[in-house]
Amino acid sequence: LDGMDIEDAKRAVITRAEDGGWGTGSTVFRLRDWGVSRQRYWGTPIPIIHCDACGAVPVPADQLPVVLPEDVSFDIPGNPLDRHPTWKNVPCPSCGAAARRETDTLDTFVDSSWYFIRFASQPKDRPFDRAVAEQWLPVAQYIGGVEHAILHLLYARFWTRALRHIGMLDVAEPFAGLFTQGMVTHETYSRQVTETGTDGTDTITKPLWLSLDDIEKRGDGYVERATGEAVTVGRIEKMSKSKKNTVDPTGIVDQYGADATRWFMLSDSPPERDLPWSESGIEGSWRFIQRVWRLFDGDKSTGGGTDAPLDRKLHQTIAGIAVDIEALAFNKAVAKLFELVNAIERAAPSASRDTAIATLMRLVAPMAPHIAEEAWAAAGNDGLIADAPWPEVDPALLVEDEVTIAVQINGKLRDTLVMPKGTARDVLEAAALASDKIVRALEGKTPRKIIVVPDRLVNLVA
Ligand SMILES: [Zn+2]
Repeated sequence: LDGMDIEDAKRAVITRAEDGGWGTGSTVFRLRDWGVSRQRYWGTPIPIIHCDACGAVPVPADQLPVVLPEDVSFDIPGNPLDRHPTWKNVPCPSCGAAARRETDTLDTFVDSSWYFIRFASQPKDRPFDRAVAEQWLPVAQYIGGVEHAILHLLYARFWTRALRHIGMLDVAEPFAGLFTQGMVTHETYSRQVTETGTDGTDTITKPLWLSLDDIEKRGDGYVERATGEAVTVGRIEKMSKSKKNTVDPTGIVDQYGADATRWFMLSDSPPERDLPWSESGIEGSWRFIQRVWRLFDGDKSTGGGTDAPLDRKLHQTIAGIAVDIEALAFNKAVAKLFELVNAIERAAPSASRDTAIATLMRLVAPMAPHIAEEAWAAAGNDGLIADAPWPEVDPALLVEDEVTIAVQINGKLRDTLVMPKGTARDVLEAAALASDKIVRALEGKTPRKIIVVPDRLVNLVA
């Protein structure tokens, strides 16, 4: 078997075993049985009634769905359905004798294994309409946390395959694409506390986790508000209630607005990576949203006139953002909007600038919908910007028609020239020799040789 890869070696061993009569190949599925019942209230009731005479009897279809009782208490451990005084006592649907409802409920993974089929089709009288579900499925793009990758997504695939196997749904795989987004993270704060064990002798030291509200800045570090004791700043971790490193989105939205909050989350890092939450980051986003609003709210130019570089910038941005959004690269889309806003702010009044501002409303709408809708309505447009079409791209404006030419003397950069793309060699050479910086640097010498690379550089050998 030396030199064989593992799969080939396995096949070779099986062949030898079968040829030698001392073994046979077989496939072992490492798939365990799945107990789908749970002894808890929060789940879908299992529609079965237990009768001493008839055994397990399904609840008749006209009595579905079985609805959970609302008068339950959770004050003692155990399943409140099992100790509810009346809910479980029902007559047997088959013989009419006193019988008991099943008080276990279904594991929530049962529901998540097929909810996407029900989302696609919701007939009143059955789980789904096959033709409608097949028309919509598979789910084109699934977005979920990576923690779902091993359990929920596997169960959902298994469920779909089983439905296909029994002829209820002709869909091979439920999800055509999967995107696992990162998590919002934050640094942790704690101080060490010592606790005495129950027998009064042993002591243990452990971290007492503190929330942002529990601490305040003092000097270079933090102290606990209540005690004034020094706080240890821990590493940046996934936000969790137990470590208290969460930020309350309600407070953030109240202070900065939903647009700035959303903008920060989209802008900071690619969505597949974790997002380290930072106060300064959201402040930066808030300031940027103000700048965008000032453009929307500012005076329109009185004159006409076009601004060709701004027109090009606008159309490159429209095209680029569409590509970025399709690729879920929202941070790149935000970066392009940032550049466009800079360009509009720098541009002199013109019809092009007015068009760029009006178009900017639609470009920021997916990421900052509230100010976009407000600006859209204030500008006198009908309906919602959310229903407005995406701006059209003029392909002619996507081509850069100017290039930056490096002008070198003996290979060293001395000046740059912005020239129309495709400018002839002799024109580039003349422009380079006419440059003030080059004239000064040559100190009256005449170049011995001039090398021109069109659209790139002019090198004077002096
Ligand atoms: Zn019965």
